[in-house]
Amino acid sequence: MLKKVVIANRGEIALRILRACKEMGIKTVAVHSLADRDLMHVRLADEAVCIGPAPSPASYLNIPAIISAAEVTDAVAIHPGYGFLAENADFAEQVEKSGFTFIGPNADVIRLMGDKVSAIKAMKEAGVPTVPGSDGPITEDGDRTMQIARRIGYPVIIKAAAGGGGRGMRVVHSEAALLNAVYVTQSEAKAAFGDDTVYIEKFLENPRHVEIQVLADGQGNAIHLGDRDCSLQRRHQKVLEEAPAPGIPDDVRNRVAMSCVDACKKINYRGAGTFEFLYENGEFFFIEMNTRIQVEHPVSEMVTGIDLIKEQLKIAGGEKLSLTQDDIVIKGHAFECRINAEDPKTFMPCPGTIKHYHAPGGLGVRVDSHLYSGYTVPPNYDSMVAKIITWGDDRKQALNRMRTALDELIVDGIRTNTELHRDLVRDSAFKEGGVSIHYLEKKLKL
Ligand code: ADP
Repeated sequence: MLKKVVIANRGEIALRILRACKEMGIKTVAVHSLADRDLMHVRLADEAVCIGPAPSPASYLNIPAIISAAEVTDAVAIHPGYGFLAENADFAEQVEKSGFTFIGPNADVIRLMGDKVSAIKAMKEAGVPTVPGSDGPITEDGDRTMQIARRIGYPVIIKAAAGGGGRGMRVVHSEAALLNAVYVTQSEAKAAFGDDTVYIEKFLENPRHVEIQVLADGQGNAIHLGDRDCSLQRRHQKVLEEAPAPGIPDDVRNRVAMSCVDACKKINYRGAGTFEFLYENGEFFFIEMNTRIQVEHPVSEMVTGIDLIKEQLKIAGGEKLSLTQDDIVIKGHAFECRINAEDPKTFMPCPGTIKHYHAPGGLGVRVDSHLYSGYTVPPNYDSMVAKIITWGDDRKQALNRMRTALDELIVDGIRTNTELHRDLVRDSAFKEGGVSIHYLEKKLKL
């Protein structure tokens, strides 16, 4: 078992990791920036090390500072959380080279999945269904590019192999616009990611975003923990998630989930991971894999009863998966609302001091948040400040509990998107289940 873990993150996920470590008797080291001295997990950790000034390049992205913190505290492993360095293969490599355990897959697998062209190729070979596309990067040959797009059929989407966070993508509706769009996407990709490799995919017009959670031990064992629907997005950012994804036939879900399990075994995946798909007309199409814990992991925990962070820690400690696929039984339904410190109209981040904070509670209600009254949300980082999660015997009960929970939530002193969530959980199409990835943006424009 791991003896002492550095938590190389902040906010709610750092607290979440700390709680799992405490439960397992693992000592914790909080590494934090100058702006984050007052974070809840910094107070609760066994040790805390300041790793630099507020801007994340100088602190949470500062690889030597994080590794030094592990050295001076005699920690044995580093948990990257999500965001920051969680999917940085060079970080994973340097952590391991310095003699520590990186809590996640090995650097080669992160690299393979970090490049979308190589990820899609690997997934296709493993039998995971992918979006019809160029099967590789687009070359200089314009005629060939046009042939490929014609074969796929318009509309198509041009995507950067190194893209992320919803950037580096462009939809093309006709051949006349194709080559110019390829050129623009390439230059943008070069500027944003330092890599101008792009590829083409069929643009699915009205899909849902459905993803599969997996756990693998890198020792030949892998399982899935069902699916999540994350279709409610704004600017490709998820807003509200649920598990299981409503209205998907069991056999269709099981087939795709088992293909993910096979893929994990094939690439010798280790740790927790997520296969992201677009789902349209009863079919799944792989778009990318996240090689880390995700923000929305709690909804899967609520319906399976499995603590994903504890599983990550056990796997990183060298244990074999103790769970088999038969142990995974999906029970009930769960929702998660992401509460952001942002203006409800403009969506601009709204940092500031919380005058009064009251978290909801009751049966089936879980709150993952680092907030407390008097805490000041700094302006330097992501604006998500809380996740309200509810569970129920069925979708209706879980949604009812979410309505009550959101009505109880008080975050005074800063502006948040709570009202948007209160509205969403009463929205008739959302209540029906199965809205597409465009639903929220269309609703916001009304
Ligand atoms: P990123 O790594 O930037 O998040 P993804 O490949 O996961 O990029 O795509 C982000 C989002 O872009 C998807 O959730 C979906 O909304 C949209 N998208 C990506 N590929 C397609 C496609 N082939 N058809 C339609 N929408 C797509």
